[in-house]
Amino acid sequence: MTDSRTLNLAIIPGDGIGPEVVAEAVKVLDAVASRQGFSIQKKHYALGAEHWLETGETLSDEVLNQLKDHDAILFGAVGADPRSSTIPSGLIEREILLKLRFAFDHFINLRPSRLFPGAVSPLSNPGDIDFVVVREGTEGPYAGNGGALRQGTEAEIATEVSVNTAYGVERLIRYAFELANSRARKKLTLIHKTNVLTNSGQLYTRIFDRVAAEYPEVSTDYCHIDAATIYLTTEPSRFDVIVTDNLFGDILTDQAGAVTGGIGLAACGNINASRQFPSMFEPVHGSAPDIAGQEKANPIASILASAMLLRHVGEEESAQIIEAAVEKDLKENATHERTTGDIGSSIVTLVENA
Ligand code: ATP
Ligand code: MG
Repeated sequence: MTDSRTLNLAIIPGDGIGPEVVAEAVKVLDAVASRQGFSIQKKHYALGAEHWLETGETLSDEVLNQLKDHDAILFGAVGADPRSSTIPSGLIEREILLKLRFAFDHFINLRPSRLFPGAVSPLSNPGDIDFVVVREGTEGPYAGNGGALRQGTEAEIATEVSVNTAYGVERLIRYAFELANSRARKKLTLIHKTNVLTNSGQLYTRIFDRVAAEYPEVSTDYCHIDAATIYLTTEPSRFDVIVTDNLFGDILTDQAGAVTGGIGLAACGNINASRQFPSMFEPVHGSAPDIAGQEKANPIASILASAMLLRHVGEEESAQIIEAAVEKDLKENATHERTTGDIGSSIVTLVENA
């Protein structure tokens, strides 16, 4: 954020419920900005499946360049209804989401998982769930290294090579230790599959142990990914900060979203921790074409994403005001059947009265 306390914000509402939930998040951002005395300069960008159908454009270099000049990006969701769309599979993901992630070097995918009082966990005895997953964002099996030989034949061989660099793993693990050190419990768990994926496993373990020596206050733990999925359902309160690779993190964070009351509440950040490029904050859920246009989407994930965004640009107090408003709203109203707009305006009011 600039000295004049103006947040230069790019907004990508996207498709389906993306624009619906982002609209509510923007109202909440405006409310907290006027309360805290900063201003927000917003620019909307039309990107996504709808935009591709209309223009044949995914994400041009020109738009990418414009996005680069913002303090942060608030993102809704992109993707068309698979039942009716003529869009080639994976095009939107590859040409928009992955392009943004690699162009802006979003090497950290940060996903807080907290069971808010009032939110309903499917676990009968969830305990106190409040952990953060630090997922690697640009390497592992998602690095784009692989191919298909003899495609379409019975002798086809398809590979996605997991790429793990010392540089990438070290910056990930350093970020996770810093985060763990800033939290009350100061506990960091590495999750991997070191007994089978021994090459990347050794790289992760060696760097984890080396960096751990610099953070004597942080207690450390390790578990295999398969065991982690068990603990996440039997004893989620054991986790504080989790650091893991791209694929394991993808799966684990969906599970984490489920145990903390569902996809309508889970937010995440795609973070360029070196701050060379803007980071991007979004709800974990997708465009949900099945409920689009029906006022059914829960905007809280998007609202919590905007709180993460404010924290990232240094507006910690504003982030806390939003989170407290969400907490209060859930406590008071979680059991009611409510529309997207009802939830949004309730949280706006709570922010105004904070
Ligand atoms: P995408 O490919 O766009 O990620 P997806 O198939 O992964 O889509 P989501 O869009 O994440 O699916 O939705 C999964 C399910 O969760 C859908 O049935 C949807 O109705 C529900 N859902 C998603 N987001 C919300 C929300 N904010 N509020 C309520 N329900 C939601
Ligand atoms: Mg999805």
